Amino acid sequence: MKIIYFFTILFGKLMVKLLKLAGRDAGNLPGLVLWTFNHNYLKAFKIDCPIIAVTGTNGKTSTTNFLNRIFAELPSKDGSGKVKVITNMQGNNLDTGIGSMLLKYCDMKGRVEADYLVLEVDESHVPVIFRQLPLETLVILNFFRDQLDRNGEVETLILKVKGFLETYEGNLILNADDPNVARLGTANPNNKKVHYYSVEKYEGATSELYEAGEGRFCPTCGETLVYDYYQYSHIGRFRCPGCGFGEITPEVQIKALDFEHSAFEIEGERYTAKHMGIYHLYNLSAVYLAAKLYNIDHGIVHRIFESFEVNNGRLEQFTLGGSSLLLNLAKNPVGANMTLRLLNQDKREKELLFVLNDNVADGLDVSWIWDINFSIFNGVTRVVTSGTRAYDIAIRIKCSGYDPDKITVLPDLDDAAAEIFRHEGVKYGIANYTAIQPTRAALKRYIESKGGKA
Ligand SMILES: [Zn+2]
Repeated sequence: MKIIYFFTILFGKLMVKLLKLAGRDAGNLPGLVLWTFNHNYLKAFKIDCPIIAVTGTNGKTSTTNFLNRIFAELPSKDGSGKVKVITNMQGNNLDTGIGSMLLKYCDMKGRVEADYLVLEVDESHVPVIFRQLPLETLVILNFFRDQLDRNGEVETLILKVKGFLETYEGNLILNADDPNVARLGTANPNNKKVHYYSVEKYEGATSELYEAGEGRFCPTCGETLVYDYYQYSHIGRFRCPGCGFGEITPEVQIKALDFEHSAFEIEGERYTAKHMGIYHLYNLSAVYLAAKLYNIDHGIVHRIFESFEVNNGRLEQFTLGGSSLLLNLAKNPVGANMTLRLLNQDKREKELLFVLNDNVADGLDVSWIWDINFSIFNGVTRVVTSGTRAYDIAIRIKCSGYDPDKITVLPDLDDAAAEIFRHEGVKYGIANYTAIQPTRAALKRYIESKGGKA
């Protein structure tokens, strides 16, 4: 062991210990300090088990949680129990967060004892992390415009990941229906482990682009891509009339979508799921393909698909008396549009709570709300808006043609939580990045104050 690595681990573990004594969660800090001294400090860790990583703009946390649950069901090699899976489920997905997490689990020699590492990784950090840690499988979900002030243009981000993939030879699991992702399949022509997943055309698919999208031109020859249909945003069945880009036969495709029974088929087998949002089905398709590469028993996949919910503000259900509220995080227009699609699929009357903040982690610019498609608002009887930008989102909704008399603006979250539950019924909630946890907390406080369980 190199002496520098010895001191890296020693110093890092000391920091974790001190923070723990001070009653604080390590978070990003130990990793950040180590990174300041040595940008390649992740090399100090010794990892022998497979690393499975998930990246992409939307759905990382949910997909990582599903994979973690599936792998955690595997029996240990000696048959005495279950395997040990280490994961960053709380979304510390930058190199510093992952470094801090590994410090908690490694021994003094930097050896991480686990059977699998399942990691959510920020798109821009894929190269820096996996030039230092041995990656076995990378799942790429999608690329959308997101928090531009932090990430830069989406094209820059894709090229960054592509640069890493040019020499990567591990498993690559790609969304066949996102041209921004599918194009990465040829980044390294020598990589024989490229696998594609897809979802069959669903009832909400459109022949024209319905929401803001990115992938209009062929990345190879620059021709305008031709779409048979759009599932949502720029995700759909596309091909390039110039060079044939997009003529992909996916290895796994979710088929026979049955929204009434919350069920679908993969490889001829019927599965059920808690939610049937189209973007969620794409995540499940990716999860299935990863599980397939590891020969995981179908019984486990059935069980987790059917029963597992991520919660934590990802399609999280809150109930009080005869009311239910389905809350979903939206970091960008595509995220918000996905919840609106679910809302519009629901034939019942409903109310909507929209919480919008403009803190640093959200991107200070909230102009992205103008890319949210409010043109269809099936059976929405009332809207309550909240957060530091409660008025901006109210104006946005009003400008889509919605009756302003049906919009209530309450910047204080506790007031908004009380207001959305004033009438009994079906409710949906959308909250952006820094708003999601305070919104969950306010909903729980209100429900508990009324004697409900949250
Ligand atoms: Zn082309």
